[in-house]
Amino acid sequence: MTTDIFANLNERQRQAVEATEGRVKVVAGAGSGKTRVLAHRFAHLVNNYGIDPAHILCLTFTNKAAREMRSRIARLVGGGDANDFVSTIHSFCVKVLRRDIYRIGFPKTFTILDDADNESIAKQVLQLHGMDRTKKTVRELLNRVAHFKSVVCPDYIGRYMLQTSPRFTDTSGMTEVESFLHYQALNYALEFDDIITFTLYLFDNFAEVRRYWQETLDYVMVDEVQDCNASDWRILDVITALHGNLFIVGDPDQAIYEWRGARPAAFVAWQPDTEVILARNYRSTPEILDVANSIIRHNRMRIDKDLVTMRLPHVKAHYYHAPNDQKEAAWIARTLQRLQAEGEDPGNCAVLYRASYMSRALEQEFIKRKIPYVIWGSVRFFERKEIKDALAYLRLVAVNDNLAFRRVVNTPPRHFGDTSMQRLQQLQRDEQRPLFEVLKDNLDLWRKTRAYPHLCAFIHLIEKCRREQEHMAVSEILNFILKDTGLTESYRDDQKEERLENVEELIHSIRSYENAHRNDDITLARYLQDVALFTNADYKDDGGKVKLMTIHQSKGLEFPVVVVCGLSEGLFPSHRTMRERRLAGLEEERRLMYVAVTRAERRLFLTEAEGYNIQSRADKYPSRFLTEIPPSQLTTEGRIDPTLLDAARSLVRAIDIETGITPGDSVAPADPADGAVPLFKVGMRVRHKFLGEGVITDLSADGDRAKVRFGDDAATERNLLTRVLTPLPEN
Ligand code: ATP
Ligand code: MG
Repeated sequence: MTTDIFANLNERQRQAVEATEGRVKVVAGAGSGKTRVLAHRFAHLVNNYGIDPAHILCLTFTNKAAREMRSRIARLVGGGDANDFVSTIHSFCVKVLRRDIYRIGFPKTFTILDDADNESIAKQVLQLHGMDRTKKTVRELLNRVAHFKSVVCPDYIGRYMLQTSPRFTDTSGMTEVESFLHYQALNYALEFDDIITFTLYLFDNFAEVRRYWQETLDYVMVDEVQDCNASDWRILDVITALHGNLFIVGDPDQAIYEWRGARPAAFVAWQPDTEVILARNYRSTPEILDVANSIIRHNRMRIDKDLVTMRLPHVKAHYYHAPNDQKEAAWIARTLQRLQAEGEDPGNCAVLYRASYMSRALEQEFIKRKIPYVIWGSVRFFERKEIKDALAYLRLVAVNDNLAFRRVVNTPPRHFGDTSMQRLQQLQRDEQRPLFEVLKDNLDLWRKTRAYPHLCAFIHLIEKCRREQEHMAVSEILNFILKDTGLTESYRDDQKEERLENVEELIHSIRSYENAHRNDDITLARYLQDVALFTNADYKDDGGKVKLMTIHQSKGLEFPVVVVCGLSEGLFPSHRTMRERRLAGLEEERRLMYVAVTRAERRLFLTEAEGYNIQSRADKYPSRFLTEIPPSQLTTEGRIDPTLLDAARSLVRAIDIETGITPGDSVAPADPADGAVPLFKVGMRVRHKFLGEGVITDLSADGDRAKVRFGDDAATERNLLTRVLTPLPEN
């Protein structure tokens, strides 16, 4: 049966959408409609096959992508919200846990920790062990905890975190890492990655739980599957074991999370019943796609698959070389302003960078020029103090959480300082007892202090909210708390209008959450779990604003105008990554560059600057990625001193030798300015990886191709791409 679901699909896309049963794999390059196929397949299953949407699980990589997917599906399916099972893998696992975590003694109101919570627990643990609580030691402890969970003791849940665990009651001689786990267990608090391991623990140990999800999910589809790690794959294996209907979509050229355990090779090796390859790009102009293809071609470990675009030619990609960081940022700002003057909506523009600190120079410039912008960070939850305070109040109401108690008992100030807190902890005795209850029972001890009336009001407020939470909407509870504590007033008084705006934005976002889940039973605890998975990008209203984000953050998205900045060798590709992972590291960096370039629809700007970089403690030189683009594909602006290029080449060669990357795997930078200081010349001696040393006898005008003689006569001449040649010093 055909409905207009198929009207906007090409033949191969249609084939993928129609392959509903069994194991299906779609492999395709950027912008070829993979995500589009996923949404259409969902609609096809519902509209044409009559599958109940509640039995289709559709996993995407970010909350933003999930939301986008839900609205696309809603448009195709017509009316209403597409189901709750269009989500990230973490949100899906939270649903599994909410339903069944009681089986291992955790309440369904378990807490999900954010980065600040983790730090606060680490500090308490270090204090308990009589150790320094510096930023460095906190970070180290958190790294040790992560290592312990993933490598040293993968069964940490069974061994430490359940009431039946051997180390739950016997806490003698615990290491700091063990104390950390113990604290988590006492407070029913899960770290972000625990969400997946706890789910697997339930699947592994409770056949009923496994069975329930296997029977519930008739169809499972996964976007961006090249970035799934081993645990994600295990989850997929378990939930599809009954029906065997798994539809996976990905692009090995966009695998950018190997450093975090992703297994792109598992995607390549996965044997499907049906495989579809999409080769047409619908996103980028030919000029942009040529640049992307030129770059990714340099990777050795890949299956060749050049994309062809369906879009019409527009303008060449633009490369700007700046004399320093400030000028680079200023140029970007001016360029965006110029585009705006020409009628471009700033909301269509994105600036991408390799590392998040790179946004600082841009921000200064944007503020100065009053360019509206928004940063999409990867920080889970809200990072702002007033938002964290507000949510901590809600957590204290919902789950009597000790971390939340510590955060808000003296916010606003109630004369309850460190001494009072220490005193309260001494009264606690049983570690599992909520501090809030301990305070309530011992309130008399504070009767003669200034804190007393404030603490009475505080206790009264929390208890009132607890009683009312059954009847009141989450947004109403929060509004009430902010008024009753005087926090709203204090933001107004102190003229901290931004804070006031932020909490208002929070309340507004809670209302939309409530609207989106109208038909569900929304409890405060559930809201808090869902919100804990959000990043600040999921909230900010960014209409009409330039978007700033890391390339990792930009995955799967598209923007009419894209600027990729900070393209300096050492920063991007990151030499630290290359030192750690050698050629694999370099190639992952190059895939990241490919992801960046392929976000652009109409305009692409590449920028970098000279100068000293504090982060890498070195001078900056153009990235090798810039030189992998044939000069003929770029419009170049800015003058590069030839000595800078020599230094850049030496830098590339030095790092390649240090990391054991053989010449020919990567190419030393050439002058990106057309015609100036070409890297190759007729008569130049060069080396080829397999053919050995030779001399260039002919060179194409763009410098891309050369004829090289490897022996005495013309029979030894080969026509080669210059990118596989390494120049040799003249003697
Ligand atoms: P990425 O690898 O970056 O995630 P993708 O393969 O998921 O990309 P989509 O985001 O699904 O690609 O599609 C890229 C763009 O092309 C979107 O704007 C999409 O609407 C459009 N598109 C895809 N297929 C078609 C088609 N058959 N007709 C018209 N537009 C299409
Ligand atoms: Mg996609």
